[in-house]
Amino acid sequence: MKAPIGPAPCKICGVETGQRLAWQQHTGFPPHALPQFFEVGVCDDCVSLRPDESGVAVRAALRVLGRSEDRWDAAAPFFNDALGEALSKVLYASQNLADPQAKAWAHVDRGLRRDLRRAYAGVLKARAFEVRRPVLPEAATFRPPVGYRGCGFCGVGESRDWHGPSWTKTLTQGPDLREYVVCDDCVKALQAIGAVGTRAVARAYMTAQGLAYDEEDPPLGLRAWLDTGLPPSAEPWAHAQVHFKERPPNLADALARVAALEAALRGQS
Ligand SMILES: [Zn+2]
Ligand SMILES: [Zn+2]
Repeated sequence: MKAPIGPAPCKICGVETGQRLAWQQHTGFPPHALPQFFEVGVCDDCVSLRPDESGVAVRAALRVLGRSEDRWDAAAPFFNDALGEALSKVLYASQNLADPQAKAWAHVDRGLRRDLRRAYAGVLKARAFEVRRPVLPEAATFRPPVGYRGCGFCGVGESRDWHGPSWTKTLTQGPDLREYVVCDDCVKALQAIGAVGTRAVARAYMTAQGLAYDEEDPPLGLRAWLDTGLPPSAEPWAHAQVHFKERPPNLADALARVAALEAALRGQS
C-alpha cells in the first residue's frame, strides 16, 4: 500500500479539496464506482450535494446542468431510466483517479452532458404537465349532524355534505317512522327517483358501483343501511350483499347453446 500523497480530489466534482490524500479502504460508494483504493475528500461546494446519501449522482447531475437540486427525488427516475449505471460517471470517484482536476466537473464529457440534458428534458416535460393540470384539493368530509351516525342509504360515516333529516317508513322493516340523513352521493339518487324507497336506494347503490340503474333488473337483497343496525363505515355500501335475478334465456341464447352442442357432438363422431 502506498503512503499518503498529494492533495485529495473531491470525489464528486474532482477539484482539490485541501485534504491530504490518504490511502484507505474506500467506503460509501457503489463497488463498481471505485475499487478499494483510496479515500478521497469532498470540496466545500459539494458538501451540499450530501455525498454520502443516496441520490448523490442525481443531485450532482442537476448541478452539472446548472439546475436546482431541490426536487432531485422527482428527477431521479428520469436520470436513472435514461442513464442507468452510467449515471455514476457524473461522480469524479468513478474515474478512479488520485489526482485532482483543475476544473470542477471536467470529467463529465460532452456525450455524458448530452445524455444528462436529454434525461432532464423528461423532467421538464413532466413538470410542465404538472403545472398545466390543476391540483384540486380533495374535498373535506364531515361526520353527519349530531344524532346521526351515517348515511341512511349507504352507511358511510363521512361525507362532503349531509342532507336531511327526513322521516320514512319505507327504508326499514318496522312500522315506525324513522329519521335519517343521506350523504352527498346518495342524495343525487334520491332526487333522481323523486321519492325515498327501494328504488332510490337501488339507484344510489348502482351508481356507487359505477353501473346504470335498470328498473327491470334491480339489485336484489339490498337493504338501506338504516335497516341494518350496523355501525357506519368508511366506505359506502360496506353492508350491502346483493344479487341479481337470472335473466330468462332468450331465443338468441338458446340457438347459441344448440349450436355449441351440435359442434361438440360433431367433434365426438
Ligand atoms: Zn466538489
Ligand atoms: Zn350515502
